[in-house]
Amino acid sequence: MKIAIIGAGISGLVNAYKLSAKHQVTVYEQTKQIGGLCSGFESDGKYIDKYNHFFSKSDKELMELFSELGINRKVSWAKSGQCLFINDQLQDLSNPCDLFAIKSLSIIDKLKTGKFLAENLFSKMNIELNDKNAEEWIIEQCGIAAFNLLFKPLLNFKTQQTDDISAMYLKARLKERKNNIIGTLQGGMHTLLIALRDRLHKNKTHIWLNSKVKKITRDGQNKWQVILDTGAEEYDLVIACISLTDAAALFVGNPGFYVSEYLSVGSWVLDLNKPLNQKCWICLVDDQREKRHVVVNTQPLNNENRTYFTFYLRNQSVTPQLEQEMFNACCDSLKKINPEFNQQWIRQKTFHYDLNVEPVFTQKFVAKLYGAVESFNGLYLPDLMYLPQLLKTINTSLIKSAIIRQRIKKEFKV
Ligand SMILES: Cc1cc2nc3c(=O)[nH]c(=O)nc-3n(C[C@H](O)[C@H](O)[C@H](O)COP(=O)(O)OP(=O)(O)OC[C@H]3O[C@@H](n4cnc5c(N)ncnc54)[C@H](O)[C@@H]3O)c2cc1C
Repeated sequence: MKIAIIGAGISGLVNAYKLSAKHQVTVYEQTKQIGGLCSGFESDGKYIDKYNHFFSKSDKELMELFSELGINRKVSWAKSGQCLFINDQLQDLSNPCDLFAIKSLSIIDKLKTGKFLAENLFSKMNIELNDKNAEEWIIEQCGIAAFNLLFKPLLNFKTQQTDDISAMYLKARLKERKNNIIGTLQGGMHTLLIALRDRLHKNKTHIWLNSKVKKITRDGQNKWQVILDTGAEEYDLVIACISLTDAAALFVGNPGFYVSEYLSVGSWVLDLNKPLNQKCWICLVDDQREKRHVVVNTQPLNNENRTYFTFYLRNQSVTPQLEQEMFNACCDSLKKINPEFNQQWIRQKTFHYDLNVEPVFTQKFVAKLYGAVESFNGLYLPDLMYLPQLLKTINTSLIKSAIIRQRIKKEFKV
């Protein structure tokens, strides 16, 4: 079969790699490089990921892919902490016992929160939580003080407006965070991208870079037409490994599928000439001016003093002014992490941003996905697929890719 894949992020590349053994696959990517959110930039002859990526031992599909591609030896595991800036100091929150060190929380609230974490970190996802509001759920279970101090920052940094977020999403995030052993790949995500690209070349799969798909159309039961500025090409099926917002723009009129709200992301990567002496996988620091939280990753990779700052944006676009404000927030955060920090410590800085990176998991999100059709006679959209773990990670991209391939096998009997 002749298959078009739109988007050369991890989802597109993995689908192309797996399908190209049997089918004629073409990948279209709008930017000048492969990798999407896992791509990076070159600096002093080295390749640096634009966003910080970690994985855990429970990311089974990703571990299998590393082995299949022969890059499993490049994985290293490290213990790393998670902290929150509370009452003017960094508070380690790497395990539930750390709760007892928080002075501003009453013993009752600590016990309620400890019980809540014990019940929820290891239990299965329950679908009823989809309809429940995250804020109400935590206040009921742990009390308002614990919500404001511990859970609001976690919701705040991603979604900003917390009052419409699903409890199911919060549970998914907490479960994701329970593991303090984190994995990284030597050479970063670039190592995975290069391994996938080489396999695709071997299978004679063409990746068209700088090739934005502008429209996709289909006449009755006929083939799909993929339309670019440079021309159009016919395919038996199309896999659009892009956000639903980007996918909807490829259709004239109503796309016929549910389009959720998406978050955008801005990120400063700062290379310091001194170590911060604080190794955190996730550190949430409040940006007092903007009243939001910033995620700072200070886990040294390859012994480099690199820090990643991530700002998620909802209903906001990245302007030069916002970029500068984010930089100021980075400097404030670094000062909180290490009071000796000053801007002369910054050896190099780069800013990156992407639109439509992850759906906003509002209440009833899952019900809306359930109500939607996931494939339309040969058009497949991974972001329309529901998985109990909800979050958009590399591993969930791999799970969704595997489901798509099973569906293609069943629907096209190939
Ligand atoms: C700051 C940040 C930190 C993260 N950290 C982690 C982490 O630690 N661990 C983890 O597992 N996951 C992490 N993730 C999530 C992970 O990066 C994503 O889940 C994964 O990379 C998504 O891959 P994808 O292929 O689905 O989408 P994308 O990477 O978004 O790829 C989509 C591609 O489609 C292209 N495209 C879009 N429209 C068109 C068009 N019309 N024509 C042609 N091409 C088009 C885009 O240019 C892009 O290259 C993080 C994400 C962010 C933003």
